[in-house]
Amino acid sequence: MTDAVRDILLAFMRVHVLHHAVHERVFGVGMMKELARHGYKLGPGTLYPLLHRLEADGLLRSEVEVVAGKQRRYYTATPKGAKALERIRPQLAELVGEAGRHGHGRQS
Ligand SMILES: [Zn+2]
Repeated sequence: MTDAVRDILLAFMRVHVLHHAVHERVFGVGMMKELARHGYKLGPGTLYPLLHRLEADGLLRSEVEVVAGKQRRYYTATPKGAKALERIRPQLAELVGEAGRHGHGRQS
């Protein structure tokens, strides 16, 4: 995978994480499984920096809880994160519609 493709996919993953974090608490391993289900292959070395950056940007906040004797950091979207997602959503729908059409070779 080229760096350029990786950069674009990372942005998609950030949107995906934000989408889930608006609806529920997410945590690293759970989110990795969810992204794998959607066809993204990424390890902790990619996901954790991504979560940390979203938190540093103020789009997510986190809290640590002890689950089965281990510390687990849960992330949820902040109001700023929810707002960012609402801002992105129409463009996302538009892109999916257009890229989907072009992907089938019918340009309009
Ligand atoms: Zn998902």
